[in-house]
Amino acid sequence: MRKLAIVAALLGFVLTGPSDALAQVKGVYWGTSGFFGPFNIQDLIPSVPKEKARNITIPVSVWIIDHPKGLVVFDTGNNAKISDGQCKTHWAAGNCDGLKPTQKRDDVIDRQLQKLGFTPDKVKVVITSHSHLDHIGNIKLFPKAVHVIQKKELYQAWWPEKFQRGGGVFVMGDFDGEARDFNYLELEGDYDLFGDGSIMVLSTPGHTLGHQSVKVKLPSGQVMVLAQDAIWMQENLDGYPAGLNYSVKDYNNSIGRLKMIRDLENGEIFFGHDQDQWKAKGGKWYK
Ligand SMILES: [Zn+2]
Repeated sequence: MRKLAIVAALLGFVLTGPSDALAQVKGVYWGTSGFFGPFNIQDLIPSVPKEKARNITIPVSVWIIDHPKGLVVFDTGNNAKISDGQCKTHWAAGNCDGLKPTQKRDDVIDRQLQKLGFTPDKVKVVITSHSHLDHIGNIKLFPKAVHVIQKKELYQAWWPEKFQRGGGVFVMGDFDGEARDFNYLELEGDYDLFGDGSIMVLSTPGHTLGHQSVKVKLPSGQVMVLAQDAIWMQENLDGYPAGLNYSVKDYNNSIGRLKMIRDLENGEIFFGHDQDQWKAKGGKWYK
C-alpha cells in the first residue's frame, strides 16, 4: 500500500507538473486605440507647474493578455465610431474638440486582435478598468465574453455623480442596449482571474468610484502593473495629482498601493496615458 501511495504521489506530481507550468501567461501585448492630443499637459493635470508644462500626445492604452485558460482584453478603448474623424457622431462635441482623438478604424481593438492572429469571438474575458469613454468604448464587440468590472463602477456608469457626469465622459451608448444583458463578473475588491495568481485584478479606486488595475506575472518572472487611469502618466507618479478624480484621497491611496506592489515585487508600472513610456515601450509583446 505504501508503495502504491508513493507511485500515486509521483504520478500526481508528473500529471500536475505540466499543467501548473502551462498555467502561465503566454504574453502581454500593449496596444493603443489611437491617440489624444496634442494639448497642454496642464489641461489634464492642472497641478503641473508652468515651468514643467509641455504639449503632449498620449496613447489610449488597451491590453491583450494571452493565457492558456483564455484570451483576455483589458480595456477596449474608444468606440469604433470615433474613428477617422467621426467623433461627433458618438461623443459630446466638447470631448472631440478637447481630446482631439486620432483613431483610425484599424486601431480599434477588434482589428488589433486580428492583426495579432486572434479573432474577437475568441476573447474569453474583457476586464474594464472603468467606465470612461476611452476605456469601455467597445465592450459591445464582445457579447460572448465574461466582463469583469467592479460592481460600484457599473452603478456609477449608469448614474454618475453630477460632477463626474458634466464632462460627458460616461457615454451611455457604450454600455446600453444589448450590453445590459452581458455576463458581468461584478467584483467588490481584488480578484485572481484564473486562480493561478498570474493575472490579478486590483481594486484601485479614486479616478472613478470603482476603478481597477491589473497585475500580470510573466513566465520570465517579470511583474507588470497595468495601472490604466489609476496613474495616467509619470507626472502623477511624481506627485502631481490628475485633474479628474472621484476621490483624491482614494486616488492617492491607490497610487501608493501600486507603488508598493511595484517595489515589493520588483515590478514595473505601465501608465494608461503616458506619451514617453508609450514611445519607448508601446506596440509590442511582453513575454
Ligand atoms: Zn483614460
